[in-house]
Amino acid sequence: MKNELIVLPHDRHWDEARLAWNLAVDQQPAAVALPESARDVGAIVRWARERGLRVAPQGTGHNAHPLGSLAHTVLLKTERMRGVAIDARAQRARVEAGVLWAEVTEAAAEHGLAALAGSSPDVGVVGYTLGGGVSWLSRRYGLAANSVTAIELVNAEGELVRADADQNADLFWALRGGGGSFGVVTALEFALYPITDVHAGVLFFPLERGAEVLRAWRRWVDTVPDEVTSVGRFLQFPPVPALPEHLRGQSFAVIEAVSLLGQDASDELLRPLRELGPQLDTFATIPAHSLDRLHMDPEHPVPGAGDGMVLSDLNDAAIDALVQTAGAGSHSPLLSVELRHAGGALARKVPGGGAVSSVNGRFLLFAVGMAPTHDAGTAVKAQVELVQNALAPWDAGRAYSNFATKRERGERLFGDLTYRRLQTVKATVDPDDVFRSNHPVRLPATEVRQAA
Ligand SMILES: Cc1cc2nc3c(=O)[nH]c(=O)nc-3n(C[C@H](O)[C@H](O)[C@H](O)COP(=O)(O)OP(=O)(O)OC[C@H]3O[C@@H](n4cnc5c(N)ncnc54)[C@H](O)[C@@H]3O)c2cc1C
Repeated sequence: MKNELIVLPHDRHWDEARLAWNLAVDQQPAAVALPESARDVGAIVRWARERGLRVAPQGTGHNAHPLGSLAHTVLLKTERMRGVAIDARAQRARVEAGVLWAEVTEAAAEHGLAALAGSSPDVGVVGYTLGGGVSWLSRRYGLAANSVTAIELVNAEGELVRADADQNADLFWALRGGGGSFGVVTALEFALYPITDVHAGVLFFPLERGAEVLRAWRRWVDTVPDEVTSVGRFLQFPPVPALPEHLRGQSFAVIEAVSLLGQDASDELLRPLRELGPQLDTFATIPAHSLDRLHMDPEHPVPGAGDGMVLSDLNDAAIDALVQTAGAGSHSPLLSVELRHAGGALARKVPGGGAVSSVNGRFLLFAVGMAPTHDAGTAVKAQVELVQNALAPWDAGRAYSNFATKRERGERLFGDLTYRRLQTVKATVDPDDVFRSNHPVRLPATEVRQAA
């Protein structure tokens, strides 16, 4: 095996190599592996197994928190595997394991196509899609996992296999939503959609109007078709020079929305929200690939702490609970508390879909704050829990793995039946539990041992 593929704790680049995108996570694996090809991945898996080590695949480390201890584990980072190929005629993309969303949306846009990317340009395509993938276009086109047509993966023997509807169908089912417990994905193929422009933007209101704005948004979402996806959100920007002056140190209640309906119909739909009198209105017709900047997510590694929740619904009492714990006067240290409108195609299970093909709730919450120090992280985590506890009456009883940054029980992520089926696939393809995922599907025997 090439030496440069493996970085060990005494190596000069060790601290750089073990970094996660989330800088608050201190990853201490036995080794870091940096493959450049599927062949390298196979060699690394065999190298790890010969030494009795496990393998944790990682794209960017956006969701590194729940991985936990990486003792006796090779952290396999796919960041050097960055190939993107667009088949314009078939409206399909093939991407290698380390590709970031912005790299796909920009390449697809050259052919008048759009992908089911998330809100952030630098989230990894593979990690996001294996967890489901809630996109700005998902109320119309469903979870990103439902658009996957084939997956290439290095298995526990270090062999490259392909999973699609016709071959390794159980594995194909498990990977679409079931996460990284089954092998190292080396490439994904998925459908693209013929969308060039969207009508999208953000309405900014003072945070003090939070209850009024969220209530109006809540009424509004019941009136919109699947072509419209939106977010209601509290934002408290830190006073950092990197931010433009109109945002720096300011706090807002915002409504973000994307419409596939064209300018006139979108303007008509937005009228009730605009009548609330926002202090800033950025709605415009924009190229679809610009959507990955609408949400204002950080585009480089940051230290953060946060967690999500799936809500069965959102009524006035829920909005009051949110305002009390994260709105004006709450002294919340959270940078962002957002509610994403689900429903539409996100609510519909797909025939032939994977382990997760829909979202079991009407709204998805994600609350996050900066954690540059241990104390700051502790304060943020405490506030996130306060928000989650206040909203507990509206807990849909399920977690969404991409927004779950704590270890959740498999049954809560997938439901009982699906989790049992995932465990069966795990026992078949990785009986020695070589692969370590942030949201692990455990071997049935491991679970019994842990419960004992
Ligand atoms: C700023 C921000 C914005 C976000 N926006 C959205 C959004 O709009 N919609 C949404 O659904 N989610 C969103 N997320 C959540 C994001 O999708 C998850 O954090 C996802 O797990 C990130 O994937 P990653 O590969 O970048 O991260 P990683 O932490 O590298 O990967 C997460 C897990 O995926 C698995 N994995 C990754 N690569 C491989 C591989 N090659 N083979 C096998 N398993 C692998 C592993 O189990 C790994 O632990 C956001 C997160 C952040 C921090």
